[in-house]
Amino acid sequence: MNDTVKYVLDEGRIPKAWYNIAADLPTPPAPVLHPGTKQPVGPADLEPLFPMSLILQEVSTEREIEIPGPVRDIYRQWRPSPLFRARRLEKALQTPAKIYYKYEGVSPAGSHKPNTAVAQAFYNKEAGIRKITTETGAGQWGSALAFAGALFGIEIKVYMVRVSYDQKPYRRALMETYGAKCIASPSSETNSGRAILEKNKNHPGSLGIAISEAVEVAATHDDTKYALGSVLNHVLMHQTIVGQEAMAQLEMAGDYPDIIVGCTGGGSNFAGIAFPFIGAQLRGGRKLRVIAIEPAACPSLTRGKFAYDFGDTAHLTPLVKMHTLGSTFTPPGFHAGGLRYHGMAPLVSHALDLGLIEAKAYKQVECFSAGVQFARAEGIVPAPEANHAVKGAIDEALRCKTEGKSKVILFNLCGHGHFDMQAYIDYFGGKLTDQSYAESELAMALAGLPSVPAPA
Ligand SMILES: *Cc1c(COP(=O)(O)O)cnc(C)c1O
Repeated sequence: MNDTVKYVLDEGRIPKAWYNIAADLPTPPAPVLHPGTKQPVGPADLEPLFPMSLILQEVSTEREIEIPGPVRDIYRQWRPSPLFRARRLEKALQTPAKIYYKYEGVSPAGSHKPNTAVAQAFYNKEAGIRKITTETGAGQWGSALAFAGALFGIEIKVYMVRVSYDQKPYRRALMETYGAKCIASPSSETNSGRAILEKNKNHPGSLGIAISEAVEVAATHDDTKYALGSVLNHVLMHQTIVGQEAMAQLEMAGDYPDIIVGCTGGGSNFAGIAFPFIGAQLRGGRKLRVIAIEPAACPSLTRGKFAYDFGDTAHLTPLVKMHTLGSTFTPPGFHAGGLRYHGMAPLVSHALDLGLIEAKAYKQVECFSAGVQFARAEGIVPAPEANHAVKGAIDEALRCKTEGKSKVILFNLCGHGHFDMQAYIDYFGGKLTDQSYAESELAMALAGLPSVPAPA
């Protein structure tokens, strides 16, 4: 019994509903504010950007929201995703802990992102939308939405952060294979992009700038909406299919997690695996430790302020209360592109504030080292983002060894690294370094946080 063990549910056990943690939280998260009036927004304020069905999910407090039939039909192509017991990794670590991982790399785009991309494309199609704009960093979200757009016949336009556009041609090619249009951001197509290019025509771009461009285009075209791949409540909710499946699979294995680990960029894969378990705990179920792992070079949960901030650089988005490094903060160019965002999902931020989760920051070299150890034991090469979760799980397993305790650890292996092999080449060539930001830059970005009136 020294091999990896796989737990797979039958198709019939794909969850019928997404789980909404808003129904179980002891206090609601802070309201979303209008960027101009700084008063709470109503559903109508968000209509230029999103179809009403998704806006209603965003503000819903219903515990369960039914997954539409056509979405479940598409999910069936790769869901339920497998849950593995990492017996060979346990052996390599000589830990008494049991390590389980949920593998989301089996989706067509290679990560958890299609779980929400397919849902968002479905609701946009239902609302008669013909085009969707979005942003992408490393290209995972862009390729997931491009895939979903192809299935529903929606035109997808992706503003891709300039550095990634130049450095990661394969993700771009994948988006184009699915039929999407990919544009380097900052671009000369939008006011937000032109304003940046006027100051610096070689600007490397950032997620905040790419969001501004995509939002601007959606807000100014009637047949076009915008889609976000993380951060928002409805996105986190779509990802809860991961945790719900894991719960049923662990039941097959006769286990329940003591510790859950996930990496956090905007917070969606982490929330996806953790929220169903946190919800069970809030309803009187077993207590567990839930650990969010973020990059030390972009540490919103461990170094950011819990405050109202904009989601983008041009300040077109509503204000949300979240752990943020400031919307003008530009993280250094480390390889886990999906984790280079200045803010954190309001629901994940609120959960940290309530003490329901913990947060830790790791440097990139130690994460790659953990990822390589994982690949050599389990055979799957994790995405650079997922390496953060791997490192977090390994550290907990080693702690179990020191303390002589056998705990059950569950982590989300949110994507494979097949498009990120250059990062591994750099790691093996000793070219990967632990970059850090200037403290002065962080202080300046935090000083620039918008002021909002005290709640009425
Ligand atoms: C996008 C992405 C992330 C970061 O986004 P979250 O919303 O925090 O999950 C992490 N891992 C992978 C593989 C991604 O594609």
